[in-house]
Amino acid sequence: MPDKHIDVCFFNGAIRTEENERMAKLLRQKTKALIAFGSCACDGCVIGLGNLWNRENVFERAYMETPSTKNPQRTTPQTHLKVNEGELELPEFYDTVKTLAQTVDVDYFLSGCPPPVPLIINAAMAIFKNELPPKGSVLMPTKSICDECPREKKDKKLSEVKRIYEIEDDQETCFLDQQVICMGPATREGCEAQCPKVNMPCTGCGGPSPRVSDQGAAMAGAIASIATDTNVIDQIMDPIGTFYKFSLANSILKRKVIE
Ligand code: SF4
Ligand code: SF4
Repeated sequence: MPDKHIDVCFFNGAIRTEENERMAKLLRQKTKALIAFGSCACDGCVIGLGNLWNRENVFERAYMETPSTKNPQRTTPQTHLKVNEGELELPEFYDTVKTLAQTVDVDYFLSGCPPPVPLIINAAMAIFKNELPPKGSVLMPTKSICDECPREKKDKKLSEVKRIYEIEDDQETCFLDQQVICMGPATREGCEAQCPKVNMPCTGCGGPSPRVSDQGAAMAGAIASIATDTNVIDQIMDPIGTFYKFSLANSILKRKVIE
């Protein structure tokens, strides 16, 4: 296939292995417009939370410690293995999960886990009509989830932090007003606030809201501005899993430093 032979490629998935990286570079070479498609390609998504560990830690957990694993020889995947028939190869598993744009040049971004169907249709129509926006654009609306959420916003003061199962949701009031953390203020709209509409707080799969470069930092800042005292912050049981569930790999932190 000659270079730039493919008009558009919707690239799904983060870059975790050597194979992912090779495929990203190959498709970049063969494609005119490369679209980072979905939260993994755009922001690293949940697998980006693996950046709190390294390959050794991940292999230890996956191949030694999990309750269903019996591995007395402590065998882990090797990149090369000699067998009678020749040499077998496996792609290298990297220490750090990267986004597509941290690996190759990306033309457009369409996030979500999964991306909302109407936005996929809009993107496809823009391609067919040759009406794509400038390179680097996010093919999503330019507001936050709160702008499309029907829940009533009141005084938004956080005096304690509760999990969703600890409240009797009135199904009308903003979750933050009910003391439940909702990532709506820091998350880009496009899904029509489908989680709050079915009585679950937004966990942030749409990626950072417009004008926000670090989704977790923006949400932590929002929480700090409405918390009535510092004890509230201490009640957040899993701050990284809460604020960076979908975007750690694409954050300012990117990963935990492991000596
Ligand atoms: S914080 Fe959540 S529940 Fe409140 S308005 Fe925003 S999206 Fe809706
Ligand atoms: S409400 Fe939030 S978590 Fe739910 S689909 Fe929309 S962006 Fe994703």
